[in-house]
Amino acid sequence: MSYRGRFAPSPTGPLHFGSLVAALASWLCARHAGGDWLVRIEDTDTPREVPGAATNILDTLQAFGLLADAPPLFQSQRLAAYDAAFETLRASGALFPCWCSRRALEPSGGIHRDGRCASSHEDGVAPAWRLRVPDDDIHFRDALQGPQQQNLRQYVGDFVIRRADGIYAYHLACVVDDADQQITEVVRGHDLLDSTPRQIWLQRCLGLPTPAYRHLPLVLDTDGRKLSKSTQALPVDAGDPLPALRSAAAFLALPVAGSAGTVQELLANLLDRFDPDRLPRRNQRLDGQTVIENGC
Ligand code: GLU
Repeated sequence: MSYRGRFAPSPTGPLHFGSLVAALASWLCARHAGGDWLVRIEDTDTPREVPGAATNILDTLQAFGLLADAPPLFQSQRLAAYDAAFETLRASGALFPCWCSRRALEPSGGIHRDGRCASSHEDGVAPAWRLRVPDDDIHFRDALQGPQQQNLRQYVGDFVIRRADGIYAYHLACVVDDADQQITEVVRGHDLLDSTPRQIWLQRCLGLPTPAYRHLPLVLDTDGRKLSKSTQALPVDAGDPLPALRSAAAFLALPVAGSAGTVQELLANLLDRFDPDRLPRRNQRLDGQTVIENGC
């Protein structure tokens, strides 16, 4: 099967430096492998969406020369596929409706482990739907971060697949789309490393293939927080892409040989020397300090 990679931003704001790093790395991995690179707009969480952000992100990617091999996929247009996956899970008995409030779960640290809802069913109140998880370790090998394992029952618990407001959770949409788009390798930020066992469990429940995973270091602000959650997460300048592209390459420890006058020259130059196995592993602060992170 030929390589297919993707970049899957949520339209919660314009593209910032941390997302540019993820976009550039996933694009380089796909081009290096001679495969396809796709863009997916993860806009299922409509209350969090910022109007105009999706268009802004797509325009910015174009200005940075990161061109996809197919039109972007919008998750907001994929509800029928998520409904079908939800029905498959429900019919197999893997799901249960849950009326537990955050408060009710406080004694167990917010984790739901019972495999069924202990709160009383309230008429007229829509439930969230949770997927039961096994008391077993899920193992996988991340191409950058090495072997990972997580006991879903202990660390995550039965997780929400469809919220009480009817919105499908990120994990369900992501797993269904990665399979439908035939993604062979997921290249994304380290903050999603510990979500991967949930996604692997969902793939198993739905009979879907598990792609390879490569979790990139995060760009942290000078206080050590993920850049997207920070006031230092300024949008990258689509009108002057070369400086940010050079900085993203430097963050990924990619050598830039000679001068490159256009984004196309710079990308070609980076691709010539790119080796996915030599990407850095450790999260780094904007001031250049590396930060040690644990695995799953
Ligand atoms: N939409 C997620 C984000 O913007 C990324 C999801 C993924 O790459 O799986 O953080």
